[in-house]
Amino acid sequence: MARIVVKFGTSVLAGERAELDEARVADLAGQCAALHEVGHEVIICSSGAIALGRSRMGLGRAPRGLPERQMLAAVGQSRLMRVWEEAFDRFGIRVGQLLFTRADVEDRRRYLNARDALEAMVSHRVIPIANENDAVATAEIRLGDNDTLSALLAVVSSADLLILLTDQPGLFTADPRVDPEARLITDVDRIDDALRGVASDSVSGVGTGGMVTKIRAAEIAGRAGATVVVASGHAPDVIARALAGESVGTRFAATETPLEHRKRWILTGPAPRATLVVDSGAARVLRSGGRSLLPAGVVGLQGAFDRGDTVTVESSEGTFLARGIVRYDHSELASILGVRSDGIAAVLGYSRGDVVIHRNDMVLEQ
Ligand code: GLU
Repeated sequence: MARIVVKFGTSVLAGERAELDEARVADLAGQCAALHEVGHEVIICSSGAIALGRSRMGLGRAPRGLPERQMLAAVGQSRLMRVWEEAFDRFGIRVGQLLFTRADVEDRRRYLNARDALEAMVSHRVIPIANENDAVATAEIRLGDNDTLSALLAVVSSADLLILLTDQPGLFTADPRVDPEARLITDVDRIDDALRGVASDSVSGVGTGGMVTKIRAAEIAGRAGATVVVASGHAPDVIARALAGESVGTRFAATETPLEHRKRWILTGPAPRATLVVDSGAARVLRSGGRSLLPAGVVGLQGAFDRGDTVTVESSEGTFLARGIVRYDHSELASILGVRSDGIAAVLGYSRGDVVIHRNDMVLEQ
């Protein structure tokens, strides 16, 4: 089963006059629901708040002032969610709203909070619907476009596939509106300056991002192991076709697998400042490979650490066993040393999950 982030640009959801095309939203929700029902995990990044706010307020042109745009986003975002919610209600699927600013993905602790919220939603079969928090995001804390936000969501959620749906069929060798020779680029193995040059000449009408932001998104998500497809949101059944690997739009190959990316980060990221000491049972389990580290097996801590830091794991004899990303911070873990996973919540008052280090977040001694 795949984990897929789908980004809907404003130009896909709304017509030229910025009114939401509810039939289109219903169709796109149906496409997502079909994948969800067979077990895929779908995460949506939906633009359209400002455009919808504009049409709700009866404003012809988008105002330039930031406070007015914030107001439009506030008006439009709740409407946007209502439309998505109703569209998914037809399939008996629940959705949840996630609003981000730049700080939520750049600050480590908030990044982990965002990841936890996403994981909780996905594991309860709720479809997250994310957007930038335009109502409170002023210039310095804005990401500015949902191409970038959707790429960051793909990174945070370790998605297999990111689909950027827009009003264009994909990336062309030249601007198809002015150059009859322009050809669709179907496959990109490597993003280079020539390609960035091609992208800078094309823009789409009502949305924020042109092809430049889509290429940047493909770079960000590709490095974290996601394949990225840029395609027209108007093409029939486009989401399932992109997932099936059919030739729709422009497909950017991932440069690494999500697991390789995570493991490379563990090996080459910040050096561990702390060590977890584990008992002989846990050491045996870790050495045999493929298992996560549970609090029950941890007997000691050396050095302080935050949630999400890379730490060293050693046996009580001081033998190096692994390096991994820890899911509890120092003081939390100090209280649950030796505790069985089903007793974590009773000690802490909450649980961040059963494992201290997940096997996918761990590189073992070779
Ligand atoms: N967050 C904006 C909105 O919902 C859209 C940004 C974008 O189109 O990239 O109106």
